[in-house]
Amino acid sequence: MTSVKMTGGLAAAGLIAMLAGATPATAQQKFVTVGTGGVTGVYYAVGGAVCRLMNKDRATTGLRCSVESTGGSVFNVNAIKSGELEFGLSQSDVQFNASKGAAQFKDKADADLRAVFSVHPEPFTVLARKESGVAKFEDFKGKRFNVGNPGSGTRASMEELLAQMGWKLSDFSLAAELKADEQGTALCDNKIDGFYYGVGHPSAAIQDPTTACGGKLISLTGPAVDELIKKHPYYAKATIPGGMYANNPNPTQTYGVLATVVSSAKVADATVYAMVKAVFENFDEFKKLHPAFANLDPKSMIKDGLSAPLHAGAVKYYKEKGWM
Ligand code: GLU
Repeated sequence: MTSVKMTGGLAAAGLIAMLAGATPATAQQKFVTVGTGGVTGVYYAVGGAVCRLMNKDRATTGLRCSVESTGGSVFNVNAIKSGELEFGLSQSDVQFNASKGAAQFKDKADADLRAVFSVHPEPFTVLARKESGVAKFEDFKGKRFNVGNPGSGTRASMEELLAQMGWKLSDFSLAAELKADEQGTALCDNKIDGFYYGVGHPSAAIQDPTTACGGKLISLTGPAVDELIKKHPYYAKATIPGGMYANNPNPTQTYGVLATVVSSAKVADATVYAMVKAVFENFDEFKKLHPAFANLDPKSMIKDGLSAPLHAGAVKYYKEKGWM
């Protein structure tokens, strides 16, 4: 501070005032992180859109939002539980299982898991190599198939489907565990014959291999899928529209879940309030940030696909809007 003293009088007072003004603002800046998925998926776009809108209000909220690419739903739910992430994207089936202590969360129910809102539908999407000769999912028996990386919601749902079909990972000649961002290239490089991915549409993860090597969408229908839909509230039939991807002119019948945003009861109400406010006050802009968001409707987003209790900060905003 010697140099400040030496400048004397008004200049020193001004500098001290500036420093005094700057210190509390910097101290108040709080960082929030949204866990997503691979960068070629749609979760990453949701996180990007949420942060972009939240950061517009940075000066008033003191919150700085950043996006993290992660292994997917199960990783996100676990990282929120441990306090490593404030928000994360999660498939609605993973949210259900985590909050109720079912499937891979058996005996590990997370009482602090909170729902914020749901986003786009995620049809389970099976893509086969053009040359694989695969016409239906059962044809992958004895072939090289990517079942998804551990930590992804995709992998969790894949295991549920295989169990329902009475299949084991050893029914494939190779059950690869590639990450979502790697599977398209692996398909075109003839390292795998197909993959399964729970993802919104359109997604770069499907666009790339359908364009680059004519990857073929395969329907997921039949008794095992019907049984899963009957047993579980979070599954529903879904259709990937024909022509959405190159070389796939016909609609593809499958089933799927919803993408949801989750948080923890330990995250401050004001933080979650600021997040939902940023999204819904700028909703037209939000919808334009990715084509998979085009049909979103706030009234459905605050109830569909949500099984954990809504976060109190979100409820406050939804009540103010008269939505609840
Ligand atoms: N549903 C996928 C998962 O949890 C991620 C999809 C995406 O990144 O868009 O594994």
